[in-house]
Amino acid sequence: MKITHFSAECYPIAKVGGLADVVGSLPKYQNSKTISSEVIMPFYDIEFTKKNKFNVLFESTIQLGFSTFKYRILTPKLKKLGFTIYLVDIPDLLFKNYVYSENDTERFLAFQIVALDWILTWETKPDIVHCHDHHVGLIPFMMTQCVRYDSLKMIPTVLTIHNAQYQGWFTHEKVNLIPAFNFKNVGLLDWDGSINPLAAAIKCAWRVTTVSPSYMNELIYSANGLEMLLNHESEKCIGVLNGIDTDVWNSETDTYLIKQYKTTSVQSGKKINKKYLCEQFKLEVTKPLFIFIGRLVGEKGADLLPEVFEETLLKNDISILLLGSGSKAVEQKLENLKTKFKGKYNSYIGYNEKLAHIMYAGADFLLMPSRVEPCGLNQLYALKYGTIPVVRSIGGLKDTVIDISKVGGIGIVHEEVNVKDITNAIDRALELYKNQDEFKKVRKRGMQKDYSWEVSANSYINIYNSLKD
Ligand code: ADP
Repeated sequence: MKITHFSAECYPIAKVGGLADVVGSLPKYQNSKTISSEVIMPFYDIEFTKKNKFNVLFESTIQLGFSTFKYRILTPKLKKLGFTIYLVDIPDLLFKNYVYSENDTERFLAFQIVALDWILTWETKPDIVHCHDHHVGLIPFMMTQCVRYDSLKMIPTVLTIHNAQYQGWFTHEKVNLIPAFNFKNVGLLDWDGSINPLAAAIKCAWRVTTVSPSYMNELIYSANGLEMLLNHESEKCIGVLNGIDTDVWNSETDTYLIKQYKTTSVQSGKKINKKYLCEQFKLEVTKPLFIFIGRLVGEKGADLLPEVFEETLLKNDISILLLGSGSKAVEQKLENLKTKFKGKYNSYIGYNEKLAHIMYAGADFLLMPSRVEPCGLNQLYALKYGTIPVVRSIGGLKDTVIDISKVGGIGIVHEEVNVKDITNAIDRALELYKNQDEFKKVRKRGMQKDYSWEVSANSYINIYNSLKD
């Protein structure tokens, strides 16, 4: 069976968040004697494309409205990704030094059209087309409705919603950019008066998955306007928990780390990574270290962090280190804390893959006070690296972190997202830290938890098989 994934991100080529991690690992775990899994993504002007060499597989042009664009299909010469990847190069549209911007309609629409045009030329067509998020949400519509893709009509499509907050809306004026289709079906593209690629994919895909079972249940009540649609389509929807790529996220082999370690050497291994972090960021190594890694946006509860940090640092003897970027207002407030709590709080505002790995390894606790968390990978990486997650009970966090008050507890869980609940959770984490025997037991249980792809990759295979029956 040949599975073709479509995505705007894929690690290690282009990463903005968890989408890249998933699309960069799931195909590898799916590849087997009977399954070949590959990825098609855009070619951006970024570090990976600058550093690597590519073979050109195909060249042609596409018409988008009144404009004609040249395109090429490339594949990296580097073979160690564990799956085949194709990159769509449209120099005038996609090839920018960023993945996303404010106005990406033409960029991702052209990407989807080119990808399908190219597939039309394949001798062996995919058995399943698997689309990830709204940037490729028009593919299931185009495959079933556009005259030009008639020969792809019977290929089953799967949509995975990694984040329903973003839907790729654009106005009806741009509908003529989509290849010809029977206009009486334009309603399939529409939701609430806009063209909505995520809604179109939910309507047209044969099966819809989300990245955790709890997030699936939550979307029925809160999906940024798509609740009714998801309710209506609920029979074809299912939650499949993300896994982690243990080739990349493994404290025994992670080459980013200052010191690699196993469950049996976790104490000494983490100490060396913590020492490095504390030296780099001028924090005291003897205090418990709390970290936050992620986008500084409302979904992650980041707007509350300045007040939470201030309150907790005034009363507790701890260190806090933050890595992330996003809202300028939040970034500014966090910057102010650096002077007020010198030696206790520090941050790196920006994106830094290596630092993220060292932080998961060197910290004692990871904070994730998310308002929305479709799956969340940070808590899974933290658990694997022996860092205890302090999380809000929502989405994938609810499905993966058991509170220490329960049998088999591996983290601290709070119900609401407000300053009081988050600071109380930090207080509970500190109580645990004071009891080092218990702290070590909880940490060990977390490290032994298996959140690898082995289970989830199979769940996807079962879905594909059910569509081929
Ligand atoms: P998201 O909603 O952002 O996709 P996830 O928890 O699913 O959240 O995945 C986040 C991924 O992005 C993780 O691999 C995390 O380590 C990484 N990440 C987030 N922000 C940063 C950053 N500033 N620097 C490095 N890695 C980051």
